[in-house]
Amino acid sequence: MILLKGAPVAKALTEQAKTISLSLPRRPKLAIFRIGADPAALSYEAGAASRMQKAEIETVIKALPESVTEEEALTAFKALNDDPAVDGILMLYPFPEHISETPFAAAMDPEKDVDCMTDKNQLALYLQEPGICPCTPEAVLELLRYYEIPVYGRHAVVVGRSNVVGKPLSMMLLKDNATVTVCHSKTADLRAITSQADILVSAMGKARKLGKFDVKEGVIAVDVGLSPDADGNLAGDLDFDAVSERAAAITPVPGGVGSVTSSVLALHTAKACRKKLTRA
Ligand code: NAP
Repeated sequence: MILLKGAPVAKALTEQAKTISLSLPRRPKLAIFRIGADPAALSYEAGAASRMQKAEIETVIKALPESVTEEEALTAFKALNDDPAVDGILMLYPFPEHISETPFAAAMDPEKDVDCMTDKNQLALYLQEPGICPCTPEAVLELLRYYEIPVYGRHAVVVGRSNVVGKPLSMMLLKDNATVTVCHSKTADLRAITSQADILVSAMGKARKLGKFDVKEGVIAVDVGLSPDADGNLAGDLDFDAVSERAAAITPVPGGVGSVTSSVLALHTAKACRKKLTRA
């Protein structure tokens, strides 16, 4: 059984990003935009900032209080968007309930959209045209590539259909010629489908929901999920020990997909900067 650790993948991607950064006349700059102080967002922000440093990318954090109005937040967001020194923008969700995410994605310059939030980049993804893909689904594919696990012609089952993980990932797997089945909370018999997967990617956010009998012998199991278990500890969607009994390869949680995501973000930011400086 191969343990699909994220660290070497993240290191290789960070090196790529750093090489690009150091080849440019100035350091790339990522702006992180956050409203409120959601613990998961804060944790991702800290990880992303530290990753940018390793990739020679500057980070600026624009954090607004939860009490801000949508209009004030949008004004602050547009200032970042219009700042020529900012190459990429990461919006950290969730926003507070009184603030809609839609006008922010609509206002964002697609060239600074390093996590595929804008309509333009999402359409490119859907049409399988060149564009920036969302970081987490791309981290899944980078991880599979690094460990030389082909998806071509294989049955990939994606559990989860969110706009940030499941749906874009299914499009990206299709582009790579996998045969893709997408499951969600209304799927009638989840086990009947997950147990057919050659490659199973779970992005439900349901701690240890899938076990040995939900997978087939030799499955490649990729766990995107991260949610609190009954004891309040963060866990993946897969019962690691149980699924390991059948899997040919499996990602750990933590230390799997999650550790690759911020290095994909670094690479996107470095590339966005290079594209801008080359155009200028
Ligand atoms: P989300 O928006 O809550 O979507 C969860 C998806 O899982 C939905 O499509 C939902 O179905 C489906 N689902 C929920 N319960 C299910 C069940 N019992 N059986 C089958 N499907 C079920 O979450 P998300 O933003 O996509 O994130 C998913 C997980 O990945 C979370 O744990 C999150 O923390 C984690 N995550 C990790 C990273 C990383 O870098 N590692 C990045 C982003 C997210 P419906 O559509 O029918 O509701």
